[in-house]
Amino acid sequence: MAEIERVIIIGSGPAGWTAAIYAARAALKPLLFEGAINEKNAQQGTLPLGQLALTTEVENFPGFPPGDLSGFLESSLPEDRRGYLPPHGKHGVSGPELMELMRAQAVHFGTRVITEDITQVDFSRRPFRLHASNGEEYQAQAVIVATGARANYLGLPSEDRFKNRGVSACAVCDGALPRFRNQPVAVIGGGDSAVEEATYLTHHASKVYLVHRRDTLRASKIMTQRATDNPKIEIAWNRTVDEVLGDDENGVTAIRLKSTVGDDDLTLEVRGMFLAIGHTPNTDFLKGQLELTEKGYVKWVKPFRTHTSVEGVFAAGDVGDDYYRQAVTAAASGCMAALDTERWLASLGE
Ligand code: NAP
Repeated sequence: MAEIERVIIIGSGPAGWTAAIYAARAALKPLLFEGAINEKNAQQGTLPLGQLALTTEVENFPGFPPGDLSGFLESSLPEDRRGYLPPHGKHGVSGPELMELMRAQAVHFGTRVITEDITQVDFSRRPFRLHASNGEEYQAQAVIVATGARANYLGLPSEDRFKNRGVSACAVCDGALPRFRNQPVAVIGGGDSAVEEATYLTHHASKVYLVHRRDTLRASKIMTQRATDNPKIEIAWNRTVDEVLGDDENGVTAIRLKSTVGDDDLTLEVRGMFLAIGHTPNTDFLKGQLELTEKGYVKWVKPFRTHTSVEGVFAAGDVGDDYYRQAVTAAASGCMAALDTERWLASLGE
């Protein structure tokens, strides 16, 4: 069995990397599990570097105004990590770039990274035991959980049938595929993500239907304005998806919509259906080990602290936050979790 780590960090979004930067600088020698690269994680959107790696421009992370970062990226990222990045535009920073920069910063201060999932934990006694997808067991005095959340699907059998053949939960990952080019597509949802995805898709698709189950969007005012001003976006109000239609050769060809206000069914001919209906926290491996909220998020047990129901286990980022869910708030709570961990270990004299 491997030696007992002082702190293991699980997750590789802004929360995980920020926790690692602070823990490494506090000489805690963090070991971070960034997630495995496999089909299951690709399917459900839980590959290393988290949800930000699935976005384009990040306009609201402080410190990155519009500008050309290419020289900085070249000098700060090792060559073998730059190959993964999409081409850099003069926009400031993209999600994948921001995550690679955070990763590089954590590694620079001595964070050790393992590209595997943690599949099972035993928090019933210390040192805590963590089982990884490589079959190994790891032990730690303290753990920071920063596994984030993943996109939801509707749960229709026809949706499942056409996943990767027209059904996607990530417009930014899949929107530029040839199957959608100059074709009509639909985005399901009424929040900021739905509008963001719809707007992005207008660069590739001929038309984008935004399908929402109510008669007002949940999205912020500025985003709502963006959707209503865009001539390529048409909103289908008061509608839910009843069935995804298509065939084996073409994938998705249409979606049949039900009305929530008693109107007749409506069939939209589209080649793609993009889900933007919220998220589920990545906490399956924690069930029975940590107290979770009704929605399955990790419960923080002290106001303005990152302590969980198990002493020595801390949580940061979207895995415990269904309210703010921003890169900067995730990063901030990663910092808090590392400081809480450091202080807790110090209080034990460790
Ligand atoms: P969200 O705000 O929770 O919105 C989810 C949307 O999906 C809602 O409109 C909801 O409808 C709809 N929905 C949920 N389940 C559904 C179902 N089964 N069938 C049909 N529709 C369903 O999630 P989000 O848009 O992902 O945003 C999450 C957070 O991130 C928010 O705080 C948001 O402000 C933030 N965000 C910000 C930006 C930005 O500022 N650029 C971009 C993306 C996200 P109802 O409205 O009827 O509940």
